[in-house]
Amino acid sequence: MDIKRALEDSEHYLMQTYGRMPVMLIKGRGIKVWGSDGTEYLDFVGGVATNVLGHCYPKVVVALQKQAQRLIHVSNWYHIEPQLKLAKLLVQNSFADKVFFCNSGTEAVEGAIKLARKYATGLKGGKCTGIITALNSFHGRTMGALSATGQEKLRKGFEPALPGFIHVPFGDAKAIEEAITPDTCAVLLEPIQGESGVRIPPPGYLREVRRICSDAGVLLILDEIQTGMGRTGKLFAYEHTGITPDIMTLAKGLGAGMPIGAMLATDKVASAFSPGDHGSTFGGNPLATAAGVATMESLLEGGFILDQCRRMGAHLLKRMEEIAKKHSDITVETRGSGLLVGLELNRECAPVISACLERGLLVNCAAGKVIRLMPPLIVQEEDIDKAMDILDEALSRLN
Ligand SMILES: *Cc1c(COP(=O)(O)O)cnc(C)c1O
Repeated sequence: MDIKRALEDSEHYLMQTYGRMPVMLIKGRGIKVWGSDGTEYLDFVGGVATNVLGHCYPKVVVALQKQAQRLIHVSNWYHIEPQLKLAKLLVQNSFADKVFFCNSGTEAVEGAIKLARKYATGLKGGKCTGIITALNSFHGRTMGALSATGQEKLRKGFEPALPGFIHVPFGDAKAIEEAITPDTCAVLLEPIQGESGVRIPPPGYLREVRRICSDAGVLLILDEIQTGMGRTGKLFAYEHTGITPDIMTLAKGLGAGMPIGAMLATDKVASAFSPGDHGSTFGGNPLATAAGVATMESLLEGGFILDQCRRMGAHLLKRMEEIAKKHSDITVETRGSGLLVGLELNRECAPVISACLERGLLVNCAAGKVIRLMPPLIVQEEDIDKAMDILDEALSRLN
């Protein structure tokens, strides 16, 4: 199918929920993807922080092929071997004792909201259902996760939101302390706000929030859907802070591109769920969890990929800072942790995204004015240098 036909069919047959680029990607290998007309692109979007191992990583491809030939789907009424393997890998490499599997980030957040409420109301009574989240946060699109999301524009037209959510400024621990009441069951935060433009909180923020939550007997839920699976140079971003949450949500990179989500918790909290309380037909499905096992094993193997992420993240940030300085008339700030990097402009970045696309580079625009880069963790220095040359040129064209 050529791109002209794709544009027509897209308009004809699909609900218009995305502002798509005029490109149809049909093949990928490592850091590269190819369009239907044969054009090659460097992929610094990575399926929105999802293709942590790049495209068609051999170990994941083989795991999927083998599992697809053996068993694609069975109900959770039976034990599923790759699901058990993935749960064990996650528990052995995180704060958590128990895992619940679902199919996406928003579902992981739904699960976290339900578990927090079940736990807290069981402990403190039926009114203890309040959840504090941050302004400009992003937690997903279903009604619960959308109600948690601190962006009014995303809720517009879909109200009423679920009751019980309060939004406070991100990075301000005191605001959380002041918002907590006896009816607060949890605080839900992203370690770094990805969707709202790679917003990094001040140092010590999460430690302070952890102390406040522990003192008040309130659960701390970390949404690591974007920051998890090695993105910041550690398997999970909370590892940089010296604290642990009570509940954590994962998705995006967990299956290196296969749809899978997970909600992890300590035993104490997870024990609030009994059989029948929560579930999912596809959650933890053999095919998706086989991809998850291959992904986890690859990320853990000798720590090489996480090490690569840290080194390449530092290089990318350095190059971005140089570019920001060179174009200081239009740039505001460079921010990043590992391979989640943002360059804030003082204007809309859509023209830059298009100029990069024309030159063979896929980058994303977050929150209107932030160029966000989230390449696969296997990215090489020469890929970064090439991408930065393209970005540099694209920014020059703005003036
Ligand atoms: C992407 C994202 C979600 C939503 O995940 P979906 O799989 O799109 O439902 C939730 N929280 C954060 C932090 C995310 O980055």
